[in-house]
Amino acid sequence: MNKTHVIKPLLDDDYPVISYGKGIYLYDQDGKRYIDASSGAVTASIGHGVKEIIDAMTDQAQKVAFVYRSQFTSDSTEALAKKLCELSSNHFQWSFFVNSGTEATETAMKTAIQHFQEQGKPTKTKVLSRWMSYHGITIGALSMSGHVGRRKRFSSLLEDYPSVSPPYCYRCPFHQTYPSCNLACAYELETVIKRTGPEHIAGFITEPIVGAAGAALTPPPGYYEVIREICDKYNVLWIADEVMTGVGRTGVMFAYEHWGVKPDIMTLGKGVGAGYTPIAVTLASSKTIEPIMNGSKLIMSGHTLSANPLSSAVGLAVLTYIEKHDLIQEAALKGDYLVEKLKKLQLLYPIIGDIRGKGLLIGLELVQNPKTKEPFSSSENMTARLISKAQKNGLLLYPSQAGTDGVEGDGIIIAPPFTITHRQLDETVDLLSKTLHEVQ
Ligand code: PLP
Repeated sequence: MNKTHVIKPLLDDDYPVISYGKGIYLYDQDGKRYIDASSGAVTASIGHGVKEIIDAMTDQAQKVAFVYRSQFTSDSTEALAKKLCELSSNHFQWSFFVNSGTEATETAMKTAIQHFQEQGKPTKTKVLSRWMSYHGITIGALSMSGHVGRRKRFSSLLEDYPSVSPPYCYRCPFHQTYPSCNLACAYELETVIKRTGPEHIAGFITEPIVGAAGAALTPPPGYYEVIREICDKYNVLWIADEVMTGVGRTGVMFAYEHWGVKPDIMTLGKGVGAGYTPIAVTLASSKTIEPIMNGSKLIMSGHTLSANPLSSAVGLAVLTYIEKHDLIQEAALKGDYLVEKLKKLQLLYPIIGDIRGKGLLIGLELVQNPKTKEPFSSSENMTARLISKAQKNGLLLYPSQAGTDGVEGDGIIIAPPFTITHRQLDETVDLLSKTLHEVQ
C-alpha cells in the first residue's frame, strides 16, 4: 500500500490505490482484485467501465460539457428530466438537478417550505424526520438526519432533530410486534404533528428503505399507506429520499412503488450517475410545484454545476443501459437469490441477527446473541472490523449503523451492481462467509 496525498476519512490509514474497474470488480495498483459488493457507497449500480456510458460522456463532452443553468438549458438535461418524469408515469412533472444527494435533500426541504410560503402560509417551515435516517452531510440535511454517529460532534450547529421513531420491527421502539402493533410507529407521526402544530410543518422526509443509519431497514406492510394518509390529513408534504433506493436498486424503479402510494417530492442521487459523474435531482409533483409556478416562479436553490449537460448525458445513458438490459428485473431476481444464500449463512453464523431489504439493497444487522439480540459493545468495533477484514479478503461491503434507543448497533449493506451474475453472487457469499469466520 502507498501513502497518498488525498485527505481520506481516516487520516492515519493507508488506502489501496485503485487502477481500474471492470464490471463488478475493482483492481488496485498491486493487481489485487476486489468484488465491489456495495457498489462503492451503493452507487455503481451498473458496474465499472461500461463502454456505452463512456461513449455518451465523450460524445457530450465534444458538443458541450457545461452551460450555466440560469442562462441555458441543454438537450441532454431536458431529455433526462423528461425521462425521469415519464418513469414516474408523469406523477412528477418538474425536476431540479444538483450534484449530490445532500444538495437534493436541501432542495427538497426548500421546495416544501416555498410551496406553503407562496400560498400565504409562512409558518409552515419545519420538516419532520425519523431517527435512524440519513439525508446528507451539510448542516440543513444533517439536522434532519437521525444518524447519531454523524450528528454528535455538530449538535450545537443543528437546527432541529428527528422526532419520529423508525419502523424498526427487529427492535420495535414501542416494544410491540407486527401486526398487533397496529403500526404504532406510523401513527406516531400524527402525534408529533399535533404536538408541534400542523401550521408549523411543511414536510415529512423518509428514506423508503433506510440505508446508512439502518442497514436496509424496511417498514412493515401498510406503513407508507398510513404515512400518506396522515400527511394528506394535515396538509404536510411527504418527501421520499430515494438517493439510495431510487433508479432500480430495490427491484423497482422507485422504492415508493412497493407500497402503492406516491410522495409529493422525491430525491434521487447515487444511482442516477451510477458513479460515472456527480449528479442528483429533486423531483416534485405538479400539485407541489403549482403555487411556486403561480407565484415567484423561482426555486431558491442551485449550484454552479447544477444541470450541466455532461452529467445529464451520463444520467440519460445510465437509464438507457438499465432499460436495454432489463436490469431492474435483474436486481429483483438476484436480490431474492442473495437473500436465500444469506439465510443459509445465518444458520452457520448466529452473528447475523437480521436480514432485511429489497432487491439488491440488503442489510445484515450483527448481534452478539441472536436470541436476546444483544448488540456488540462499541469497543468491539464489529462493523469496522468486518468491513476491513472483508476488504483484505477482496470483498467490498458498506458499513451501516443499526439500532436505536441507546443501542449503537452494527450493520452492513450488500448492494452489488445489478449486473452481478449468480456465480459472482456465490463468490460474494463465500468471501463473506470466510470473513465472518475470521471475526466471530
Ligand atoms: N440521502 C440518502 C438516503 C443517502 O444514503 C445519502 C448518502 O449516503 C444522502 C442522502 C447524501 O448523499 P451524498 O453523499 O451524495 O451527498
